[in-house]
Amino acid sequence: MSKQYVIPIFVPHLGCPNDCIFCNQKSISGQMKQITEEDVESTVQEFLKSFKEENLYTEIAFFGGSFTGIDMELQEKLLKVAYKYVQNKQVDGIRISTRPDYIDREKLKLLKKYGVKTIELGVQSTNDYILKRAKRGHTFEDVKKASKLIRRYGFTLGHQMMIGLPESTWLDELNTAKDLAKLKPKMVRLYPVLVIKKTELESEFAKGEYHPITLDQAVERCKELYYFFDRKRITVIRMGLQNTDIISNPENINSEVVAGPYHEAFGQLVEDSIWYDRILSAIKKVNTKVAELEIEVNPENINNIIGHKKENIQKLKDLYDVDVKVKQNFNIKPGKFETKITKTYKDFLDDE
Ligand code: SF4
Repeated sequence: MSKQYVIPIFVPHLGCPNDCIFCNQKSISGQMKQITEEDVESTVQEFLKSFKEENLYTEIAFFGGSFTGIDMELQEKLLKVAYKYVQNKQVDGIRISTRPDYIDREKLKLLKKYGVKTIELGVQSTNDYILKRAKRGHTFEDVKKASKLIRRYGFTLGHQMMIGLPESTWLDELNTAKDLAKLKPKMVRLYPVLVIKKTELESEFAKGEYHPITLDQAVERCKELYYFFDRKRITVIRMGLQNTDIISNPENINSEVVAGPYHEAFGQLVEDSIWYDRILSAIKKVNTKVAELEIEVNPENINNIIGHKKENIQKLKDLYDVDVKVKQNFNIKPGKFETKITKTYKDFLDDE
């Protein structure tokens, strides 16, 4: 399969009538300008020029949360520009993200007319109490209706959910995942909640009314959700917010992040943790006390085995007293690995 590339186009929802407590759109909308057809044109051109490889599967992605909430006339203008690239085969598809209560037949017909393939819904939670607490302004019922309609119109459905919303427990998040799986999305995105400047959540955090989850909790929860969706054959396409100038380490001067489980490579942390589980399960399968293990892996996955800042190797040493040696092997398929026990504790005793 060819590699996938995304041309991201941020569409701010100026004048959004909602008040989600984690969002700073209202407070910064004065500093933003609405996107124009010319902006779409120049962004697409710029990205297409920068692609060096052939055979790329390319999508134009209108993101920002509420594409179908903006003025219909503007939606059509922006889509027209993007669709031109689909028609002349420079781009393979268009995706948008929006809110569940901004979906109806009329909006879907417009998206269909201009070749939109994928619609992602910002669900965040399926628990109506948590949705209300986060002032989302929609219910789980809206999510169900929108998801069914999107699939009926032949679009690919995606869902976005948040981890660590106020008063949301791990059980609530697992229930959200179960509810979503029943609506048959093709893909999901998992976003641990970050406290962003100039949001209601920031005031709650300052008053000690909101306690963000820790980075470890976020990694563990996302990992379990990843396993769950994987079993249901739903692809997890992203874990953690995209790193940008403003979504960056809270220590950076331009960062808008105040608190929460921020990490510049959050998705990588979760992936490494999944690899750690796989190595551990390989070790546990053998009926002997492993002292040294050699792992052969495709060069693409060496860092997954080692883990961020050698965390996987260190954890295996600290918790199980296993020394791991990693070797690259081009003959091993990416995603796979082979293990060889090079020393057991019995060998150690015999050596003495
Ligand atoms: S997250 Fe909520 S407040 Fe922010 S733009 Fe989307 S709907 Fe509006």
